[in-house]
Parts: sequence; structure tokens; C-alpha cells
Amino acid sequence: ELAPVITIDGPGGSGKGTIAGLLAERLDWNLLDSGALYRLLAFAAENHGVDLDNQAALVRLATYLDVQFVPANDHQEQRVILEGEDVSRSIRNERVGAGASIVAAIPAVRDALLERQRAFREAPGLVADGRDMGTVVFTDAPLKVFLTASASERANRRHRQLLEKGENANLASLLDEIVARDERDMNRSVAPLVPAHDAMQIDSTSLSIEQVLETVMTEARKRD
Ligand code: C5P
Repeated sequence: ELAPVITIDGPGGSGKGTIAGLLAERLDWNLLDSGALYRLLAFAAENHGVDLDNQAALVRLATYLDVQFVPANDHQEQRVILEGEDVSRSIRNERVGAGASIVAAIPAVRDALLERQRAFREAPGLVADGRDMGTVVFTDAPLKVFLTASASERANRRHRQLLEKGENANLASLLDEIVARDERDMNRSVAPLVPAHDAMQIDSTSLSIEQVLETVMTEARKRD
């Protein structure tokens, strides 16, 4: 008997990471931040001096990547550990995000990460966020959400997030980077960013986190 899954897909800055984390906490379910896997791969490649066009080396890295996710507690976000080191912060910048979207366009890399992602599906349930959670990885998920927001609102959110973390950020270049990453994610031939045909679509441009969360929770309760 497979555990239930709620998938949350959408572009960067749509709020899917925040919503997925809060949902997992409320439901007391497991959490898969699939974007972190692609970020970790890009980050590890950089550390190991692997070129982003060296597909064979990237597939090897993806297969043997030593990753641990430390579940959130006491409102502390989930931590991401790579080769024993906490890299939770280091993988959250647009440079690593751009690298992630480059390695994510390689079919063999996606294949190498597929079973790893499915292994997160454990009782009592899983909340999985990314680009292809509902279309490729968990096609049988009972609840699929596709979360969007306008590009300028997403750039604003990223900008605020970075400033809060004490990092410097330029709004105009963030917007350019977000639009470029969306283009790459939507136009790639493998697992492009598209809503699953059975996904519930939510535009969060003018919604609060609480409003989005309530919308998804209401839908989840209906499926109980
Ligand atoms: O969601 P996040 O911004 O962390 O994702 C980083 C990049 O990883 C995305 O731009 C996308 O190219 C890739 N990704 C993906 N499939 C997923 C999650 C992320 O291709 N399921």
C-alpha cells in the first residue's frame, strides 16, 4: 500500500517551497524538496570541478550524491546536508539555481534521480514540491497542485527573501534570471514545467501564504 502524496509544482518563487513545508508540518507528513536535489547536484559539480556539459560525470555524481535531509522541527526549516556539510544556505542563490536548471535539462540526470525521489514516499504521507512531481515522479498522486504567480511578484518575493537572509540582491537582475530559468524549465524536452492535466491551479500573485495553504488543506480534507 503506497502512502498518499500531495504534489506541488510551479515556477521558482511561486511559493511552493513555503507551502510544501507548512503543509508537511500541519499534516505531519514527509517532505521532498526535489529542487534541492538539482541544486545539490549543480553545487557538487562546482565543488568537484565537473563541467555542466559533462553528462557522464554529472550522472555519476547524481547517482552517488551523498545527501541527507534533516526534517524541520520547532519551525526550523529542513536542513540539507551534502557530504556531511550543511549547505542549506549555500544552495539557495540564483547562481546555483541557474546551474540546477542546466543539469535538470539532461534526461540521464533526471533518470538517475527518479528512484531517489520516489523513495521519499513513506507513511503516513508525502508532500513533494518541484517541477514534475505531478507529471512524472508521482503521477498517481491523489492531490496535485500547480502554483503560479506573476514573474514580477516572484522576483519581489525572492528579493525580499534574500534581503532577509542578509544577502545582497538586485531586483532587476533577479527578474531577468527568473524569466530565463522559467524559459529553460518550460521549453526543455524532458519533464518540462507544465501543469498535470489533473492539477488544481492556484495563482498566488495576490494571495497570502495562509490563503494558499487553506485552499490546499480544504482540497486535501475532501480527499481524506
Ligand atoms: O525549485 P528550485 O528553484 O529549487 O529548483 C531549481 C531548479 O531545479 C529548477 O529551475 C528546475 O530546473 C530544476 N528542477 C526540476 N525538477 C524538479 C525540481 C527542480 O527540473 N522537480
